[in-house]
Amino acid sequence: AKRDGKNSFQYFDSITKKEVEIASTIRRDLRFALEKGQFFLHYQPIVDARTGKVVSMEALLRWQHPKKGLISPIHFIPIAEETRQIISIGEWVLRTACKQMKEWRNMGYYGFSVSVNVSVHQLQQPDFAKVVFDILNEIELEPRFLELEITETVLIEAMDTVVRNLYRLKEMGVKIIIDDFGTENSSFKYLQKFTVDGLKIDRSFVSEIKVEVNKAIVDAITFLGHRMKLGVTAEGVETKEQLDCLVESGCDKVQGYYFSKPLPPDEAIRMVQKESNY
Ligand code: C2E
Ligand code: CA
Ligand code: CA
Ligand code: CA
Repeated sequence: AKRDGKNSFQYFDSITKKEVEIASTIRRDLRFALEKGQFFLHYQPIVDARTGKVVSMEALLRWQHPKKGLISPIHFIPIAEETRQIISIGEWVLRTACKQMKEWRNMGYYGFSVSVNVSVHQLQQPDFAKVVFDILNEIELEPRFLELEITETVLIEAMDTVVRNLYRLKEMGVKIIIDDFGTENSSFKYLQKFTVDGLKIDRSFVSEIKVEVNKAIVDAITFLGHRMKLGVTAEGVETKEQLDCLVESGCDKVQGYYFSKPLPPDEAIRMVQKESNY
């Protein structure tokens, strides 16, 4: 038993070493990833729960590392935030997603918007709303085709700069969605202070919706959202069973592997093409 213990300790130890090594590689190489053109975006459709039509495409960041291969955003976004590189990376994401949306618009697709994840660090920049405004102008994309997903942290830490940026963005006609709703130590206070366009229910509630308490939470968020005249989206929908539960709760929009994984733009658009080919 002692030997087993030792072996498993070594095993654990080597995993930890590997993880530490990857983390330091990420830290070292992230600085050059943008200029080396190693980032790209995948798009995951968000679907109207009643009609099944695509209403938005969420842009999700991918990093193709020359040696380590594809690195997940959950591994490098926290580091990018810590080093504030998220500000320039996030601007690249915004511009790239807006350009893609413009291309889809030029192809004749008007029925959906593009959704971009925005970090609190970006929203804390006094000129963030101006950056968005300039990108939309430069690309000649109407603001209503852009939706920003922000997390509750942003609103909890809402200082004047964040609130001012959100206000200007709303005034421009850009839509604001609260992502991962229900996961932070949220108080409802910010909902009182700031108007958003929608709530996105976190995957953790959706994946275990069979568990009574999660169904209750989903029901409550949907009720709250609708009372506030907000659209309610559920993410991470993987099964028909989950979808049925969410529809029963009254969710307006759904997203997840059940419909589509995040895909390169030319593959993501096929789901919309199918709609018109019936
Ligand atoms: P998120 O914004 O909550 O995005 C949803 C994540 O769940 C994505 O992971 C997506 O691929 C995954 N997902 C979607 N449907 C399903 C499903 O049915 N089942 C399961 N198991 N997973 C599903 P991804 O792409 O790895 O992104 C992880 C997180 O990284 C995002 O979570 C977001 O917080 C962050 N992120 C991604 N791109 C950006 C970006 O451009 N900027 C910022 N600031 N953060 C980003
Ligand atoms: Ca998101
Ligand atoms: Ca989310
Ligand atoms: Ca999430």
